[in-house]
Amino acid sequence: MLSIKNLHASVEDKEILKGINLEVKAGEVHAIMGPNGSGKSTLSSVIAGKEDYEVTDGEIVLEGEDMSELAPEERAHKGVFLSFQYPVEIPGVSVTNFMKTAINESRKAKGLEEMPANEMLKLIREKSELLEIDRKFLSRSLNEGFSGGEKKRNEIFQMAMLEPKLAILDETDSGLDIDALRIVANGVNKLRSKDNAVIVITHYQRLLDYIVPDYVHVLYNGKIVKSGGKELAYELEEKGYDWIKSEN
Ligand code: ADP
Ligand code: MG
Ligand code: MG
Repeated sequence: MLSIKNLHASVEDKEILKGINLEVKAGEVHAIMGPNGSGKSTLSSVIAGKEDYEVTDGEIVLEGEDMSELAPEERAHKGVFLSFQYPVEIPGVSVTNFMKTAINESRKAKGLEEMPANEMLKLIREKSELLEIDRKFLSRSLNEGFSGGEKKRNEIFQMAMLEPKLAILDETDSGLDIDALRIVANGVNKLRSKDNAVIVITHYQRLLDYIVPDYVHVLYNGKIVKSGGKELAYELEEKGYDWIKSEN
């Protein structure tokens, strides 16, 4: 699914990613952990193609195709989903209408016709039922006055609707409250399949109690310095990051 080789990336001439190697196969969930400032969010932004970051070496291959030169929208259309992609508040545009537009834009980019209204309604019903999202929520203005949990619900709904091949969830260092955590975890667990892959980026171990990863990687100072199974997350929880820092 995703193959990252020797990835180096800079921001304003400062090298942040210093040779990342990562292989993610369909059906897998990978967690990326690491101390603050290690480059976790930079890695997710670089995979999604955000323009502030310059890839100076290496490659990012999705299903056999090097994505390094593609614009963020093109990557999205190829099935890369990054959480917090649409954090904007849009008064007067409902969660549903925003989603309809996003779906149809994505279809247009692939040369497809708009999704027929009845099919769209069916998809919305199916996904909202799967994620236990009620109708009232779907008619609210996008992100306007949303709680942390509701923002997450909206993101997970977007992810469910877009059916990405590769979803990257960067939970940021601020942490999530327990409600938001459960919403994200339940959503991801329901959407996991043998055909998609998920990268969960988290500073804390607790999200991984709910989303059980197949692999855990520690990113430190722009490099993956340790990889293991889910037990590595517990080891980090117990021992902190100092031993990683002292070894590297
Ligand atoms: P993490 O997500 O692991 O906390 P980040 O990827 O956010 O780490 O940041 C890694 C380093 O890159 C930090 O030193 C940060 O200041 C720097 N950095 C990230 N994005 C930018 C940016 N847009 N402009 C300048 N520096 C940045
Ligand atoms: Mg940070
Ligand atoms: Mg971060």
